[in-house]
Amino acid sequence: MEIKWAKRIEQLPPYLFAEIDRKKNELIKKGVDVIDLGVGDPDIPTPDFIINALKKAAEDPTNHTYPSYVGMMAFREAASEWYKKRFNVNLDPATEIVALIGSKEGIAHAPLAFLDPGDVALVPDPGYPVYPVATTFAGGTPHSMPLLKENGFLPDLDAIPADVVKKARLMFLNYPNNPTTACADLGFFKEVVDFASKNNILVCHDAAYTEIAFDGYVPPSFLEVDGAMDVAIEFHSLSKTFSMTGWRIAFAAGNSRAVAGLGKIKTNIDSGAFQAVQVAGIEAMKNFEIGLEDRKKVYQERIDLFCKCLDDAGLDYTKPKATFYIWFDVPKGFTSSGFAATMLEESGIVVTPGNGFGDAGEGYARVSVTFDTDRIVQAAERIKELSF
Ligand SMILES: *Cc1c(COP(=O)(O)O)cnc(C)c1O
Repeated sequence: MEIKWAKRIEQLPPYLFAEIDRKKNELIKKGVDVIDLGVGDPDIPTPDFIINALKKAAEDPTNHTYPSYVGMMAFREAASEWYKKRFNVNLDPATEIVALIGSKEGIAHAPLAFLDPGDVALVPDPGYPVYPVATTFAGGTPHSMPLLKENGFLPDLDAIPADVVKKARLMFLNYPNNPTTACADLGFFKEVVDFASKNNILVCHDAAYTEIAFDGYVPPSFLEVDGAMDVAIEFHSLSKTFSMTGWRIAFAAGNSRAVAGLGKIKTNIDSGAFQAVQVAGIEAMKNFEIGLEDRKKVYQERIDLFCKCLDDAGLDYTKPKATFYIWFDVPKGFTSSGFAATMLEESGIVVTPGNGFGDAGEGYARVSVTFDTDRIVQAAERIKELSF
């Protein structure tokens, strides 16, 4: 017999990178030296002081049992203290913070907590694919908010149709933004707070990249805005900040009823993050400045290198103020997918086609600088030789 798949997975959009992956593997088999700038996963290792904290905590049997569903109190206290130091935002660790097994987990579970079938979630396009997929899994309907270059890649709230706004119960936002690298200021966040509060919409702000910023730019928290605690929950991850993507540790903070709602879903689905990982996370947040400047310097140097090569190739981009991506225009006459295919075939470089993040990503491509600097230099050399 053939196992029946539920419609929610049968109907998943086709994996847009499948064709690139196939071509990439074919070229590697032929002996081509492929440089993959596709995935955003830090190559810089987790700092030693965090690894040492994990080692010690892993040996303590009191950490071997089921953890608290919502996270150790000490972990939530450390998150609260970090928020105070970093954003000057006060959070009650008991009611306004919940630990997550990576922020993807919390983001994916949020629609289960806040959407009924038929409800709409407003999602950025281009954007992290988890927002629309998780919305659909929960029986909700995603509605794309196009992020356009002429608007600084911020959504135009006035452009959302009134009947959609009426059905909207959730809005996903993400600044500093993946994939566009755009940043939002408190003025824009205030507009969102007013819009959300007027229309009864919970804002889920994905703040995965607030600590990866350059040239003295300090990204704000959504929760810094007056009234944000009434309408928002913010997702913070230790993944990008501390090069801890494999560790699966993050937290959500904000409105206490939203935090409790997410906690209810989690209590019924998972059993929390390994306590030893939480103990290491506490150490990370308490000493968040150790090594951070050095890690950022590495990304910044690579971004500068790559942008220079885009200049030489005559390709248009906005220099990133934050994140470890570069979002650039594909050359005239190319689609995103066509450009990605050409790059791979002619220079053995994998870039992510912008339309993989949504229709409004068409015309763009993204590279990640989470790869060895030498490889990025090699990629830059190869791109220089192309003419568009
Ligand atoms: C990397 C990333 C995350 C973080 O994922 P984790 O599950 O915390 O590792 C969340 N949102 C976006 C947009 C990201 O790029």
